[in-house]
Amino acid sequence: MKLLKIAIGSLIIILAIMLLKYKIVYKVTISGQEVGYVSNKYKFEKLINEQIINKNESNIAYVNISAFPQYKLVLASNSEETNEEEIFNKIDNEAVTTYKLYEIAVDGNIAVYVNSVEEAEATVASIKNDYKAKTDEVDISVREFYTQDINNINATVQVASTVETAEVELLEVVNSQQKIKSATLDGVYFGVKPVSGTITSRFGANESIRDHTHKGMDIAAPYGTKIVAAADGKVTYSGTMGGYGNLIIITHENGIQTYYGHCSKLIAKVGDEVKAGDEIAKVGSTGFSTGNHLHFEIRKNGSQINPQKYLYK
Ligand SMILES: [Zn+2]
Repeated sequence: MKLLKIAIGSLIIILAIMLLKYKIVYKVTISGQEVGYVSNKYKFEKLINEQIINKNESNIAYVNISAFPQYKLVLASNSEETNEEEIFNKIDNEAVTTYKLYEIAVDGNIAVYVNSVEEAEATVASIKNDYKAKTDEVDISVREFYTQDINNINATVQVASTVETAEVELLEVVNSQQKIKSATLDGVYFGVKPVSGTITSRFGANESIRDHTHKGMDIAAPYGTKIVAAADGKVTYSGTMGGYGNLIIITHENGIQTYYGHCSKLIAKVGDEVKAGDEIAKVGSTGFSTGNHLHFEIRKNGSQINPQKYLYK
């Protein structure tokens, strides 16, 4: 009995000494690598859960922690310091956050991002209601968008915080798409006026000077004014042709051609690939002409159509 008391007493003393020298902590390893100690595993896991995995930031789709910490209960010397903050930062730095947004696009061109599907639908409904004629001509689509780089999005395309601001951003792209579409014939975009000047005769005009209706449009401009290509294409004629005088013909896609007549000087040569806005000739009064002007035609499969459907509207 006495012996037992001595034994228990010694054990208590040993335990007391141990507790003075040691403490019970959790040794943490991440991907097999020891990273330190935390005093309270449950408190620490709660912290990770609240501030990394389920952090209260908007638009988070999910957070991916590539390596979860592993805990092992150990006795550590009292002098051993725990390093919760360091371990937390390590986990936080390696966590990859994926954000979810909704992308609104016009004919496939991204116009604006919004935070929820409700906002996306409200924005589209609102613009269709406010600008029906414009939106009927374009295709507006909404899709989910995931990114790990939300700051980069903010730098390029706006993430709208309200339906109103989203609509403003969207309208800008609808306007430019609608403008492009209304100046496009079978995939050929007439983006540039060949010369700027006064329109002196329109398509279909029936003036005493001619024996047929006018099959193009005339734009008066001073002698030597730059004439530029109205659309991308290939020069297929550069020379004189009857009443046209000095003429450039550019052949575009899908059987579409543009004619530039009465030039004083031809600059582009047959075979040249030209872009809209490239100089091709200079204004003059060669051929059947009564003054310095450009005679401009758009043809589809050889037949002239009214250029003012696409340019000089
Ligand atoms: Zn003419």
